[in-house]
Amino acid sequence: MRILIIGEGGRESALATKLHKDSRVTKMFFANGNATTDAIGKNVHLSEIHELRDFAIKEKIDLTIVGPEAPLVAGLKDEFKRHDLKVFGPDQKVASLEGSKAFSKKFMQTYDIKTAKAVIFDAYNEAKEYIQTQEYPLVIKASGLAGGKGVVICDTLEEAEATIHDFMIRRIYGDAGIRLVIEEYLQGFEASIIAFSNGEQLFPCIPVKDYKKAGDGDKGPNTGGMGSVAPSPEFTQEHYADFEQHILEPTITGLKAEGFSFKGIIFFGLMVTKKGTYLLEYNMRFGDPETQVLMALMENNLLDVINDCMNGKEVQLTFKDEKAVCLVMCSGGYPRNIEIGFEIVGEDKVKHSQLLHAGAIRRGDKVVSNGGRVLNIVATGETYEDARKKVYEDASHVHFDYSFYREDIGKF
Ligand code: ATP
Repeated sequence: MRILIIGEGGRESALATKLHKDSRVTKMFFANGNATTDAIGKNVHLSEIHELRDFAIKEKIDLTIVGPEAPLVAGLKDEFKRHDLKVFGPDQKVASLEGSKAFSKKFMQTYDIKTAKAVIFDAYNEAKEYIQTQEYPLVIKASGLAGGKGVVICDTLEEAEATIHDFMIRRIYGDAGIRLVIEEYLQGFEASIIAFSNGEQLFPCIPVKDYKKAGDGDKGPNTGGMGSVAPSPEFTQEHYADFEQHILEPTITGLKAEGFSFKGIIFFGLMVTKKGTYLLEYNMRFGDPETQVLMALMENNLLDVINDCMNGKEVQLTFKDEKAVCLVMCSGGYPRNIEIGFEIVGEDKVKHSQLLHAGAIRRGDKVVSNGGRVLNIVATGETYEDARKKVYEDASHVHFDYSFYREDIGKF
């Protein structure tokens, strides 16, 4: 079987490493890949959908797995389908559940899915009037994709005024910000649940805790994710029961009613408050760095799971009764300004964990940094502390100039 994986992060390294062990996988290609994927397959430099399509036809790709959201939102699945190419992921319409926050909020409201109260605005004056009447903090979201920067938690009316002006008038995120979702602020902790879809049913993985802030103790700016832990220690059976009844089941009902059948991933970004589990967002692809800890604990053969989903079959997911911790090592200055091209040394001293590259590429016989989130160190253990010790012991041997990571991943 010939597989193409689109993406270049730690998430794609985790998927690739899992699939690589399968003897049915004869060749793997990565667009654009990283140093880990380079070692187990072939990295190719392609970005446009038509280039990916032509490559998949030429290389007789049997299955394409899409890591990031942008190609799905741009219609990669639709284009591949026209050429009888199989993709594990939704078409453009269903990907709008991630690509348009207004679309997904309407879906949630229509199907009575437990979510923050929200109003959608297309007119600046109406939004401006509305924010005068609201309690603060208030959450203002650009409806379209804004690279994770389109959500602003406003503490004051002045901040809210500046934000809607930035989004709708100055259009700092272009068309992504011309439609807004303005919603109530929910106070609590976050959890991620990633589910596989076979077109009819959803099969959820164990809940994951993701660390979004750059600094220890959840201080500093938001990032793509500084680490993850599975299973989430905070997300109880009770929270899960609430999720199942008020989010998972009505989502399945909504997907059916709208004819949104898809074979791929649906990721529930959750906020747990004193009033229970709320849905913040859907992502229509694997999470990064959630996937790294899930793959470390998943007992199933990943290719079987994906094939079964593609064939509309039922899946029984099982996970090791252990804990997994993933630490993300970053370039100095991330998520603001970064410098790349620094040699990474000490990888051979990683003894107790799995090292997965993210923004790191091979240059000659060296591996050099090539992005904000450079590499992941992932370990499992009987307790969080066991897994955490392995990860931090191994991380202490890996260096590149100005690198940094959080010290509190998996510390409870
Ligand atoms: P991502 O970059 O994770 O894809 P996103 O930009 O698509 O995120 P959301 O996940 O909707 O947008 O929001 C980003 C973050 O903003 C959330 O992870 C959460 O921390 C915070 N947030 C969003 N909505 C709310 C809310 N109603 N109340 C409190 N915090 C919120």
